[in-house]
Amino acid sequence: MAVKIPRGTQDILPGEVEKWQYIERIAEEICDKFQYKGIRTPIFEHTELFERGVGDTTDIVQKEMYTFTDKGDRSLTLRPEGTAAVVRSFVENKMYGDPNQPVKLFYSGPMFRYERPQSGRYRQFVQFGVEAIGSEDPAIDAEVISLVMSIYRKVGLKNIQLVINSLGDQESRIAHREALIQHFQPRIDEFCSDCQNRLEKNPLRILDCKKDRDHELMNSAPSILQYLNESSRQYFEKVKHYLQLLNIEFVVDPTLVRGLDYYNHTAFEIMSNAEGFGAITTLCGGGRYHGLVKQMGGPEIPGIGFAFSIERLLSALEAEGVELPISKGIDCYIVSLGDKAADYTVKLLQDLREAGFSAERDYQQRKMKAQMKAADRLQARFVAILGEDELNSQIINLKNMESGEQKELSLNQFIEEFCQIVEGK
Ligand code: AMP
Repeated sequence: MAVKIPRGTQDILPGEVEKWQYIERIAEEICDKFQYKGIRTPIFEHTELFERGVGDTTDIVQKEMYTFTDKGDRSLTLRPEGTAAVVRSFVENKMYGDPNQPVKLFYSGPMFRYERPQSGRYRQFVQFGVEAIGSEDPAIDAEVISLVMSIYRKVGLKNIQLVINSLGDQESRIAHREALIQHFQPRIDEFCSDCQNRLEKNPLRILDCKKDRDHELMNSAPSILQYLNESSRQYFEKVKHYLQLLNIEFVVDPTLVRGLDYYNHTAFEIMSNAEGFGAITTLCGGGRYHGLVKQMGGPEIPGIGFAFSIERLLSALEAEGVELPISKGIDCYIVSLGDKAADYTVKLLQDLREAGFSAERDYQQRKMKAQMKAADRLQARFVAILGEDELNSQIINLKNMESGEQKELSLNQFIEEFCQIVEGK
């Protein structure tokens, strides 16, 4: 029996892969404008990194990691997300010593989670994300949000909604935590076993529970916004003010929590409102964190970041009917007749490519008609035709496939003349 692709993964085939490349290109261009620099960290890390950095009360760490023991008896894990590794690298490479602060980084690459696969949820998916580490200016929160909004806008997404919340600083969170414990404790036996564990460890995560989300105590749970102290409240006001200055619409949702211990202040998500997008509508998640850098052995400095998957972005684009401007077609297809002409095209093709054109020739010894068909399939803008007679008279025929116009060009001037014709268009 043929071996099949693992569940929850997908092959991105030619025709589709161009969309991915397009999105990655746009995202990288925008990161460049915002002055975020690329970083590449390993696909696997020590398991402990995620236990410490993602938090051992999270579903990711408790249930979803691809963990294995290597031949040296080390426990390694395929990365389920990007922040922990970026922060590890930030600390390991002492980037906090860089005079340019905050350090602004972006990454893109596959992440792995052992989740129940469904539409928009894969076991291997590609996340694009950024982290700005080293500043607690609310303007950087607004910048990070506006960066992702710029990417979404640039690729043509329209039906999206930014949802924000504040988780406050540590003092506010402790007060809220106490209120949550008091709220849930009397009836905690009506909740799932995960929530029962969360009550003492991290009661905020109860609000995130998918199983118990319809329990009546969920709606009436104390809102973090009521527990923000003055400085946290002011911080949140500033973030909202900057978003307004940037004309970025948002709604505040006090139930939006990012359940990790080290998140504080701003938390946000971007949802798709596109019809028919499916049950999972979150396109992007992000927030501010404090303590993570210290947890990784660095100084006590804060960060903020987001991550979105290209898979969900592409399905949102599809649901909105957005056609990406993927360049189709090639500049020139060289048709040759006879062995000598075919030999000649080997170098000619190379010259065209080196001059910056996309070009192709036949490798199947096809007849002229079949080569013309191949040129059509590749949507060639020009077809250069070289037969033995042309070779003897040192000319080559160039056909403009759009207008049907045909021209004889001198063979040894072909590249120069081709350049002129294409540029003169
Ligand atoms: P998270 O790290 O869980 O906050 O996820 C951040 C973003 O990554 C989400 O908003 C999705 O765009 C994407 N994402 C998370 N898990 C998956 C998955 N299993 N399949 C596809 N995309 C995912």
